[in-house]
Amino acid sequence: MSDFQERLAATKATLDKIAADYAPAVFASSLAAEDMVLTDLILRNKLNISIFSLETGRLHAETLGMLDKVKETYGTEIRLFKPEAAAVEAYVSQHGLNAFYDSVEMRKECCRIRKVEPLKRALAGNKAWITGQRRAQSATRTELAIQEDDATHGLQKFNPLADWSEEDVWHYLRSNNVPYNPLHDKGYPSIGCEPCTRAIQPGEDVRAGRWWWENPDSKECGLHVVDGKLVRIKQAV
Ligand code: SF4
Repeated sequence: MSDFQERLAATKATLDKIAADYAPAVFASSLAAEDMVLTDLILRNKLNISIFSLETGRLHAETLGMLDKVKETYGTEIRLFKPEAAAVEAYVSQHGLNAFYDSVEMRKECCRIRKVEPLKRALAGNKAWITGQRRAQSATRTELAIQEDDATHGLQKFNPLADWSEEDVWHYLRSNNVPYNPLHDKGYPSIGCEPCTRAIQPGEDVRAGRWWWENPDSKECGLHVVDGKLVRIKQAV
């Protein structure tokens, strides 16, 4: 079996284990390439894992278009969690619509309102959650484990693609005709909110287009961070 086939088999086994032993479990999809691999594996195999996205109110039209693509392809609607309208209004009226460019603090506050708080609601009542993070994606993810004890949210966190390469992801998507965000063909290997993501040049780090005005060490949205620090929890068995 090739290395890729071994990684794929291990990923399928991890998803099967989550569905069997950690119900109710949820997959947090950003609708990017890695997340479409997991979406395909979950929906094609009818696994007992529900899928949601954080609709921040600042996503690209192409990303929102993926919601329809998923529905057309699999007949499944992805559940959306949105920020509290009052919190967004207060931030915008006090600081401005794009205050996240002004400082890391303002950026983290925007992410807290639009992503971190809705994520807490999305995870409430579940035993496990799943992400499409990979170790090779950035300097902040090199120690990523496949399974972590997420003490912040009080549940298990799984990163089934932690050891996948970018080539693995595209090999899976292309060989299984999985739909993907068209921004990936326009120089966006990593996709977040529209004002905080830009295309990168060949040879640049895959996450260089995310919060490009910040130091690489601060580039996480808070979904995987506690008190301003990346959470690197000891790997569970
Ligand atoms: S990525 Fe940008 S627009 Fe999106 S929540 Fe964070 S700071 Fe706000």
